[in-house]
Amino acid sequence: MCGIIGYIGSENGVELVFKGLIRLEYRGYDSVGIGFKTPEGLKIVKSVGRIESIPGEPDMPSLERKVKNPNGSFKYYSNIVIGHTRWATHGVPSERNAHPHVSQTGRFAIVHNGIIENYSTLKSQLREKGFQFASDTDSEVIAHLIEYFYDGDLVEAVKKTLSKLEGAYSFLVISTD
Ligand code: GLU
Repeated sequence: MCGIIGYIGSENGVELVFKGLIRLEYRGYDSVGIGFKTPEGLKIVKSVGRIESIPGEPDMPSLERKVKNPNGSFKYYSNIVIGHTRWATHGVPSERNAHPHVSQTGRFAIVHNGIIENYSTLKSQLREKGFQFASDTDSEVIAHLIEYFYDGDLVEAVKKTLSKLEGAYSFLVISTD
């Protein structure tokens, strides 16, 4: 279990969440990602490797290289942002398995720490309803369940999702609305 962080406010949450992830770094992680709301929909940026670049190592993969311009300014601006450092429990460390995970239509994105013990049953049930999975994680069921239950009220959809989950976990969700 590593770290999750979220921001909603009037500043650039991409910068604040990026800095927050650096502060979570001491807990250890195998991959990192952020998700945020844009006028065009949810944008997800993930990296297997470091959060910050190492000076003098311009080709080393890092989240910093993906969210910052060479002059140090941030490429993205958003007031609603979630971030995650992952310590894999289900699915190898990879970009595909890094968080955030997005629901089938792209309407919802989640970051999750912990374990969903009954994910395999939930995954089978969701597959029967036509949901397709893009990762090997236990976490992805959360995004699809929220979408399955959503009928205009996100809080209700999250409550219904919580009633289905077994395990020890915390998660954050953002939506396009
Ligand atoms: N179980 C989730 C995964 O393997 C979350 C792990 C974590 O807490 O970082 O992706």
